[in-house]
Amino acid sequence: MNYILFGKTGLTVSEVGFGGIPIIRLDEEAAVAVLRRAYESGITFYDTANAYRDSEKKIGRALGDVRDKVILATKTLCRDAPGAVEQLENSLRMMKTDYIDIYQLHQIAQEEDWQRVTGTGGALEAVVKAKEQGKIRYIGVTSHSLSMAIKLVQTGLFSTIQFPFNFIEDAAKEGLHTAARERGMGMLAMKPFAGGMIDNARIAFKFLRQHPDVLALPGFDTPERVDEVVSFYERPNTVTDEDTKLMEKYHLELGKQFCRRCEYCQPCPEGVMITAAMGYKVIAARMSPKVAIEFSKIPMESVSLCTECRECVERCPYELPIPDMLKVHYELYEQHKAENS
Ligand code: SF4
Ligand code: SF4
Repeated sequence: MNYILFGKTGLTVSEVGFGGIPIIRLDEEAAVAVLRRAYESGITFYDTANAYRDSEKKIGRALGDVRDKVILATKTLCRDAPGAVEQLENSLRMMKTDYIDIYQLHQIAQEEDWQRVTGTGGALEAVVKAKEQGKIRYIGVTSHSLSMAIKLVQTGLFSTIQFPFNFIEDAAKEGLHTAARERGMGMLAMKPFAGGMIDNARIAFKFLRQHPDVLALPGFDTPERVDEVVSFYERPNTVTDEDTKLMEKYHLELGKQFCRRCEYCQPCPEGVMITAAMGYKVIAARMSPKVAIEFSKIPMESVSLCTECRECVERCPYELPIPDMLKVHYELYEQHKAENS
């Protein structure tokens, strides 16, 4: 494993980090085994969030005895100071530590979020105070909105920015990445597999490794997956013409508008299983239409409940026209049903 200096934090981190979402679905023993394999393989950066259920607790249990050897990053979705303090204290307890290396304001997407966290009594106030008290070493921020992410970088208030970055969602490549580097900020790449849309880890990491000061945060759910990803980082990175062509093929297949499965749009008041239904086209391409119509039957049948109220559109950080997209997936599902009846 190689180690890099991460932006102006001065922190030395492994070239790849550990994203704390998939360990949510593991029991505690299995999660500890995956985390320990990552640590023993040289991964020193662990990112989680107060919102990721028991992810912090599992990290605390697995890495509590090696706390001084790892970098811990977590986040709060709270916009007000009391809420942020409560969540920070909870994170410290869960992760069995008295300091967080990088504490991030989570998912600042809209201007309203920004006004609330920076207003009097906002979360930023509490986080700055906690830094002065030594409970936080560096303050970071995360966003799914490119224009907001650039604005956040330009404030100069943060040491790191976390943003979706992969060869499909590569909007950060120029503006955001450049702006962050100019300010000496490290960029944490969330969703290295585009929320499951990229099923070729080899090229996913080839793309990310081309960008300096970018730390990829893949999630792991088995020790074998850790071994696989670490093996990519043990080889020099060369992107061949064949790799580029393969990346272009994914681009063509998915287009610009696709669901990243972040689930921020949920719940639908009518019970539409939005995330599962939005993946139908890819599932059909990968599994074959015949298998997909059975596999996706329940979510696809729920699409007919949509009243086009657009509540989900308001919540989608990618501003996807969800009801229209659901219709397209549903039509394809109906077509596949007719062809396979
Ligand atoms: S637009 Fe349709 S899918 Fe979206 S919240 Fe409303 S009913 Fe649910
Ligand atoms: S529709 Fe938007 S908010 Fe919902 S899961 Fe997909 S990307 Fe996320």
